[in-house]
Parts: sequence; C-alpha cells; structure tokens
Amino acid sequence: MIILFHFKQFDLRTALSYLRAQYGRDVLPVGLITRESTGNPRELDDSFLGIARMSPHRRRFYRSCIDELGEQYKQEGLTLLTSDLSTRDVVRENMDSPCHIWVHTSPGSEETSFLDHLAETLPSHAELRLLPATTMLAEDELPMSIDKIPATFSGFRKRVEKRGYEQYRFTREQFNFPRAHSRGRERLDYYLWQSHRILTYKQTRNGLGGGDYASRLSKWLAVGAISGAEVVAAIRRFEAEVAANESTYWLLFELLWRDYFHYLHRKIGDLLFFPRGMKELRSPGLRDTARWKLPRLATTIEMYPMDHQTLTRYWQRFLDWAGGTTTQPLINAIMCELFATGEISNRARLCAASALIYDLGVPWWWGAQWFEYCLLDYDVSSNWGNWAYAAGVGADSRPERRFNIEHQTRQHDPDGVYRNWVAAQGWENPELPLPPDPPI
Ligand SMILES: Cc1cc2nc3c(=O)[nH]c(=O)nc-3n(C[C@H](O)[C@H](O)[C@H](O)COP(=O)(O)OP(=O)(O)OC[C@H]3O[C@@H](n4cnc5c(N)ncnc54)[C@H](O)[C@@H]3O)c2cc1C
Repeated sequence: MIILFHFKQFDLRTALSYLRAQYGRDVLPVGLITRESTGNPRELDDSFLGIARMSPHRRRFYRSCIDELGEQYKQEGLTLLTSDLSTRDVVRENMDSPCHIWVHTSPGSEETSFLDHLAETLPSHAELRLLPATTMLAEDELPMSIDKIPATFSGFRKRVEKRGYEQYRFTREQFNFPRAHSRGRERLDYYLWQSHRILTYKQTRNGLGGGDYASRLSKWLAVGAISGAEVVAAIRRFEAEVAANESTYWLLFELLWRDYFHYLHRKIGDLLFFPRGMKELRSPGLRDTARWKLPRLATTIEMYPMDHQTLTRYWQRFLDWAGGTTTQPLINAIMCELFATGEISNRARLCAASALIYDLGVPWWWGAQWFEYCLLDYDVSSNWGNWAYAAGVGADSRPERRFNIEHQTRQHDPDGVYRNWVAAQGWENPELPLPPDPPI
C-alpha cells in the first residue's frame, strides 16, 4: 500500500506525478491528513514570545487547502483519510499490511526531528520515504554538493546559470492532469496567460500593494500547491509561445532565491536561527555546522540574555512595530496589513525588517518570529534566511541592509495611495495576541 502523508504540503498532483514515475501510472495512493499535518508538535505550542506559532489566518488558509485537496482526491477517484489522531496512531490502527508512507520534508530541524521520531515509532511494516522538495532545481542536478553551497546568492546563481537553464529537468515533459484544478494554478494561469502581467514584472515587482504588482504565488508554493519546477516550466512555455523579455527572466531569477535559501538551510542547519547567524561561522574553530544543531528557541534566549529593563524597552518597541503604532506611517500601514491579512509584498517586508532592526534596535529574530506567526506563505528557510540577510548576519557580503524609510516612502508611496488604502480597510489599531509586558 502507498500512503501520501500530507505534512504542510496540501497538493495531490505534484506528489502523484512523482509517485507515478516511481511505481507506474496506475498507482493508487491513500492520502492522509492527521493532527500533525498542519504543523509539527512544537508548532502547536507557543513561541518564546508567548504567542502561538501560527496565526488563525494561516490555520484557515491551511484548512482551505486541505478542502481543495479533498476535491482533488475525489476527482482522481482516490481516498483521503482525515483524522484528529496522531499520524503514528492512524497508521497503527488502519494499516496492518506493509506500506510505504511518502512525505514531503523541509530543512527545518523541527520538521526533521518530527519525521525522525515518526520513523522510529511506526510499526515495522510501515516504511517512511521522502518526496523531493518542491524547489525549482532538484538536488541531484545542482552544480555543487550541499556542503559547497556558496555563502552568497550571487555565487550560487552564477554557478547555476553557467550551466544554462535549458539543461535542467523542469523543461522536460511533466505528467498531465486534464481535470486538475487548484487556486495556485489558477493564479499562475492568470499571471502568465490571461493578463500577461509577467511581461512587466521587473518594473512592478517593487510595488507595495495592489494585487498584480508581482506573481503572488508564494503562498501556493509554500503549501506545495504548485512547485517551483512547474512555475518555471510555465514561464518557459510562455517565453516560447508569447514573448520573452527581461521580466520573464526576472521571475525565474527571484524563484532561484527560494531554492537558494532552501539549499543554504540544508547546508548550515540551525545556524539560520542564531542571532549572529552565519557570522558564527567566521569565528575560528566553529566551522562545523553540526555543532549548531541545538533547539533553536532555547538557544536564542540562553545565548543572548538581557536584563529586565532592556527587555522591557525592546518589548515596547516591538509592540509598537507589530501593532503599527511607530512614528513611521509607512511601517504602520505595512504592519497593519500584515496582521490583518497575512500577506504583504517583498518591498513591504524589506522596509518592515529594516525599521525593526535598525530604527528600533530590536533583535531581528523577534521580527522573524512575528512573520512566522503572521505570514500565509511562511516558509522556514525563506523567512529566517531573509531576516538574517536583512540583519547582516545571513548570506550577504554586506555588513547590513538598511533602508531609509522616509526615502522608501517617497519612492514607493509618494502620494500615500498605499497608506490610505490600508487606512480605508479599518485595519489600524489591531488587538494583538501579545501581552503588554515581556513574556520571557
Ligand atoms: C523579511 C522577509 C521575510 C520573508 N519571508 C518569506 C517567507 O516566509 N516565505 C516566502 O515565500 N518568502 C518570504 N520572503 C521573500 C519574498 O518577500 C516573498 O517570497 C514574496 O514577497 C512573495 O510574493 P510573490 O509571490 O508575489 O513574489 P514574486 O516577486 O512574484 O516572486 C516569485 C517567487 O519567487 C520567490 N521569491 C521571490 N523573492 C524571494 C526572496 N527574497 N526569498 C525567497 N524567495 C523569493 C517566491 O517563491 C515568490 O513567490 C521574505 C522576504 C523578507 C524580506
């Protein structure tokens, strides 16, 4: 028996394509949604900031993806088992003959330790097997091994591009699902074929809001509802059949960032969560990344203790930032949109991160934790990788990535269109799920 355990990846077809390549076209997997499907056990707890690890928005989004998944199973004539029990208990109770349990994984240590634990506790007739990541480039076609992933994005990109994109597998024929429907694919279709907005991506991608400034594919990529390879195959087809320009290339370029953070995380492990991040590697004698495999939240508190006064000061500034009550109107609008919707643009994220780290002086990992709570497209490698990058402790040769918020406002929201739009939604002065005093 073949079981597809959906662990934060709620799409049948990407995995089914892979299984058909392994077992043949007639494979009939049973889908499995369990208590842990929307997050590993630690994610069900609070973070060290005293907040849940996942916002109600993200939970609802996952729920809607699971509903869509149910439809996909129905369309394919397959069974999706849904249970509130733990994965181990469902397997023990329902599967008494030999089975292969296929699951997507991610480089996150919590995800990995959950799967390790699962593998150890499953009955002997059940074997856990890993599906490949939903990256654009598969690990076996990277031009370097994981331990040689370059320390900067441009180093990675140059090596990848030297080989030529046409050499990578995503250009080859994929399995076809004629009845396939998903909101992620709808968005891809819209952005490329219906609106042709991809043709101006490079000019509009720095927009603050407004729907079509960028592809808006990230939340679908985060839940596996489309894969990076599928997006690139679509871009390639669009370039061949409609037009190719700098913008079509640029979307591919940005997708490569996602792959980069994924593979970098595989290389550096939990170092991604450390306050001094990759800078720790520059300390003599500390080059062995295995040394950094420590429980991430515990280490950030224990390694960087603060006196109560400092903590209280930081906490107040953090509350102002998260709740949109700083002295910077652009940041306030961004943070209100984030809390209300779980979705903000890349430009907004860069400004918000810079304001927290450099203008308010608050530890960057508090911001990363808040984004983890809020973002619908939360992806462990991209989120923590981008935050570390913004803080100057990540995959960057520059010491810091600071933005002048007044300048950003003049450049990206000169007439206040974005700020007025947020104000008109009634998202200001939100009630945050955060205590008034530091919970640590
Ligand atoms: C502080 C901070 C935190 C972030 N956290 C996340 C996160 O948790 N999840 C996430 O998917 N992205 C994250 N990003 C990256 C980026 O902001 C989003 O991927 C992008 O805004 C999503 O919108 P889009 O799909 O319209 O992107 P587009 O501009 O249309 O780009 C297409 C795709 O390329 C990938 N991509 C683009 N830029 C980046 C980048 N800098 N890093 C990694 N991938 C990228 C995404 O998969 C995106 O969907 C973060 C950026 C910052 C600065």
